[in-house]
Amino acid sequence: MMERARAAGVERFYLPAIDSSILQAMLQMETDYPGRCFAMMGLHPCSVKENYEDELQIAGNWLAKRKFAAIGETGLDFYWDKTFVPQQYDAFKRQVQWAKQYRIPVVIHSRQSTQECIDVIKELHSPDLTGIFHCFGGSLAEAEQITAMGFHLGIGGVITYKNSGLGAVIEKLPLHHIVLETDAPYLTPAPFRGKRNESAYLQYIAQKIADVKNMRIEDVQEVTTANALKLFGSHTKLM
Ligand SMILES: [Zn+2]
Repeated sequence: MMERARAAGVERFYLPAIDSSILQAMLQMETDYPGRCFAMMGLHPCSVKENYEDELQIAGNWLAKRKFAAIGETGLDFYWDKTFVPQQYDAFKRQVQWAKQYRIPVVIHSRQSTQECIDVIKELHSPDLTGIFHCFGGSLAEAEQITAMGFHLGIGGVITYKNSGLGAVIEKLPLHHIVLETDAPYLTPAPFRGKRNESAYLQYIAQKIADVKNMRIEDVQEVTTANALKLFGSHTKLM
């Protein structure tokens, strides 16, 4: 998979943390692919359960110990389970504070909660707080609120789906607010929808953005790569 990605021009991988159960595998990827894989640190909203204080403690200890590319994934998920909504808010807000404290971006998961996540960022916003609303699938009004705060939109396979409506939103937004992502193994772009997603398929998302914005794919690749490098910082540049 890594070789197919490299052949498709994908040079850097930003790996979102989920919870303590995946940390060892994620950090091993970083060790195995130095200068290509970069770990984030955080607690995913779907992993916010009774023990979320313990999970935050583990993530917090890691952040105190070494540099990470970003805080994430964090955010709110009202799609799968609403049992722990107050705890999701608490975990999200504390992680946004970490992003400010460590001066790194925050990568936000906002499933059926885009406006609620925007409201949290508005409440906690400061000039140096940046980040990504990952797998953005919201409206133009939501996109405009996000970019007005200096945040980026993570665009993945959904833009290639018929009737998603995302192409019409992206058509109206400047490319310098957009970064590309896979959400692999989920949200596989057309023409591979339904199969396991992987990073080599990023080219189909870039091509779709080029089509809706009537641009060359090379320009989409160049600008979104520059956006990601600027956002994640010089320490994640190729060695
Ligand atoms: Zn997510």
